[in-house]
Amino acid sequence: MSLKDNAHQLVREHLKMDRDGKAHKVPALLDELRRAVTPGHAGSAGGGMTGPPIPINPNALDLLAEIEWEARRNHYEITDTGWQSTLEELLQAFAGMDLPPEWDAYLTHVSADWIDKINALLWPSKPRRKLVGKTCPACGWATYGEERKVCLSLGCWDDEGNMRAIGTWDIECASCEASWAGEQVAYLLRALDTPGAVIVSDVAHVS
Ligand SMILES: [Zn+2]
Repeated sequence: MSLKDNAHQLVREHLKMDRDGKAHKVPALLDELRRAVTPGHAGSAGGGMTGPPIPINPNALDLLAEIEWEARRNHYEITDTGWQSTLEELLQAFAGMDLPPEWDAYLTHVSADWIDKINALLWPSKPRRKLVGKTCPACGWATYGEERKVCLSLGCWDDEGNMRAIGTWDIECASCEASWAGEQVAYLLRALDTPGAVIVSDVAHVS
């Protein structure tokens, strides 16, 4: 993705590939993030002063402030002048600037980072499934560290939070960093006495 592509996703309505493989128009990511700062805002529009106070999402507010500050600071470093308009206009200005290659690469990286952070905040992916009480065959431990964290975890969700096909699951040990993928996963689950079928019904239950 280029800086222009990233700015487009952040500032403009854009197309996003959905689960069904079709492209859908979605709002600008910065618009979504601003909406997330005060999630009650849209619903209470026109409601006067009688409704409950609008809750603020501090994480969304922090991320918005971080992006704004970083963008303005970079603009200042590039041009030696302060940006006088909105964040959205600044990002579009970046995309249209004739930047030195190192600045272009840097801002492309930074803006991709913002996109990842907004996506992670607005649509968090489900956590990996911990395999509690199971011993890692590579290091021989089931827990590690003073907090006795669980070593083995199973990756079985896609980005939208749906269960992936068993053949695409992976298992990792957070202690020794061993990992298993593909057919090894089914084999390892059997060895751990945790057949995939049990996990499937299990996770379907807790999700
Ligand atoms: Zn291990």
